[in-house]
Amino acid sequence: MKKTVICPGSFDPVTLGHQDIITRASKMFDRVVVAVLVNSSKTPTFTTEERIELLREAVGDLDNVEIVSFDGLLAEYCKSCGINTIVKGLRVVSDFEYEFQMAIVNKKLNPTLETIFLTADADSTFLSSSMVREICSMGGDISNFVPACVHDRIVAKYRKS
Ligand code: ADP
Repeated sequence: MKKTVICPGSFDPVTLGHQDIITRASKMFDRVVVAVLVNSSKTPTFTTEERIELLREAVGDLDNVEIVSFDGLLAEYCKSCGINTIVKGLRVVSDFEYEFQMAIVNKKLNPTLETIFLTADADSTFLSSSMVREICSMGGDISNFVPACVHDRIVAKYRKS
């Protein structure tokens, strides 16, 4: 049977860390659904459409990856599309506590749901979207942190605002 997994997140914006996890998942599984969270408690800097477009640029060349957006509970979304495996990246110990809790809650809400963790690449353990946003908003160089193909679009967003 073909194995589909979901990589959920805010992707606000996509970083080299996200690109690495999605690329590795695409080599391990038949199909990877990258799911952009719409209703986060935080107001995103990039609109849902922008986040999807940046992801398309960053990972759109991977044949078995598709990008969607979802609203509401991840556990319910997975149920509605028949996906029972979540793939997440783990950076540092501080990620672990939150992700461990989320994995248990998701399983309580949807008992068929398993969460698999991939360790972050050594070069991106420190990397987060919020760090990229902060550096970029202060005019810093983000070229080591985001895929080259989306660099200019991310910078342009900050020039506009
Ligand atoms: P953040 O806003 O913290 O950058 P997201 O909510 O967009 O992250 O994260 C989506 C997924 O990507 C999560 O599983 C997260 O753990 C993972 N991820 C985020 N940054 C990295 C990174 N630098 N390396 C590996 N995985 C990452």
